[in-house]
Amino acid sequence: MARMNAPVSQDSRSPAANPAGGSITARAAEPILRIENLCVEYRAAGSRSPAKRAVDGLNLSVNPGEVFGFLGPNGAGKTTTMNVLLGFINATSGDAYIFGTTVRQPIARQRIGYLPELTYYYKFLTAEELLRFYARIFKIPRTETDRRIDEVLKLVELEHARKRQIKTYSKGMQQRVGLAQALINDPDLLILDEPTSGLDPIGRMKVREIIQRLKTEGKTVFFSSHELGEVETVCDRVAILDQGRLKLVGRVSDLAKQYQLSLEQLFLKVVGYSIPDPARTQA
Ligand code: ATP
Repeated sequence: MARMNAPVSQDSRSPAANPAGGSITARAAEPILRIENLCVEYRAAGSRSPAKRAVDGLNLSVNPGEVFGFLGPNGAGKTTTMNVLLGFINATSGDAYIFGTTVRQPIARQRIGYLPELTYYYKFLTAEELLRFYARIFKIPRTETDRRIDEVLKLVELEHARKRQIKTYSKGMQQRVGLAQALINDPDLLILDEPTSGLDPIGRMKVREIIQRLKTEGKTVFFSSHELGEVETVCDRVAILDQGRLKLVGRVSDLAKQYQLSLEQLFLKVVGYSIPDPARTQA
């Protein structure tokens, strides 16, 4: 069961340098997202036991217009990292910058859209009402709101269901309304936590197509996923995190050439899982 402990927040730790094996140098463009020596530790309230390090000296940057896959086994620290980017929790040490502004300042998040792993919306609202609600939170002028709602509903293919209550939506539709919500403020950077989790192959394909369309519009997408086949198809670059540490980062095409492995095989290798030899298993 997930424990809801507050992360240890102090700035005096000495972060471990990241041994990002196989790291590929970033392009010359100024990164849209930069994570520097990020450490997050959790400690149970009142506990004397040592804090648990969920993110351990993470260094990473994402360039404008990239689709970036943030990978790792369960518990690797992906959501924790995203929570720091979104200002939900504070880093124990290190920092992250969005458009050059530290995420400790709320203004850094003005141009981002976020889809959480689990979405909790008021299910009695229709898609249109939900989006209007978020448009007001973002202080989008009323004159622009209708146009934005039309645009995002078209993008996520929910125009036909815009006046239906969300509680009547399938899981795939609910995920797409979540994406519409993340896009209502026309963000430059999208942070998506497992956007295809629990979706059937058609639902996954639709989300993948939306991500591809966002890329053609020049958006930057940073997302976590366990669906390595689709990550391989849609991502420009990937990073693999394990036990809070960055193990590998690079362009999908370069990694495939360099290691002569599928992304799934490479992932398993990087996280230390040895694939059983079928010949030996049968013997
Ligand atoms: P998943 O793929 O399962 O979503 P993840 O890579 O997103 O995993 P995190 O949720 O960031 O991983 O968890 C990283 C580590 O931090 C795990 O060991 C988890 O148990 C721990 N952790 C996360 N949140 C808390 C919390 N609030 N209190 C204590 N420990 C936590």
